[in-house]
Amino acid sequence: MKDILDEKDKRLHEKSLDVTFPLKDEDKKTINDIIELLTNSQIPELAEKYNLRPGMGLAAIQLGIKKRYFVVVHEYDEGKFDNYVIINPKIISTSEEMIYVGEGEGCLSVNREVCGIVPRHARITLEAYDMDGNKIKVRGREELAIAFQHEIDHLNGILFVDHIDKKNPFKNKDLYREI
Ligand code: ZN
Repeated sequence: MKDILDEKDKRLHEKSLDVTFPLKDEDKKTINDIIELLTNSQIPELAEKYNLRPGMGLAAIQLGIKKRYFVVVHEYDEGKFDNYVIINPKIISTSEEMIYVGEGEGCLSVNREVCGIVPRHARITLEAYDMDGNKIKVRGREELAIAFQHEIDHLNGILFVDHIDKKNPFKNKDLYREI
């Protein structure tokens, strides 16, 4: 698999382009590689063995592929994972309620400690395409909703650090619910 780009790379600040179907074999392979990487990274023994930082999501652009797709591997129960392959997503609804990750969001492209609040919708519904080009509707709440919003940002050239107020990283903290 290609190396994961660092936040300093200009490509991470560009908007990715819509995917056309049928999906190319190289993209299918990339998606399967990402699923394997993210899953292994969340299994402590494998993360240590392969020296992986834990991560639940990765967008194609983080590998330098300027296409609108991402993968989220969500550990919904201990040692149990759901894979979400999301292509050409559109946000169709979001909750009014906003939340943030108390210990701070992380990103496999941001290799430093970052403090501050990133307000996210507590629930989100997406319309997207799966690997076979079928239209799908996907709902996420809490951690999963945050992952979807974080990854959609990547498709638009936005990193989570861009959402943090530089002068006051904990601005309006009390308006949102911590998870
Ligand atoms: Zn990220």
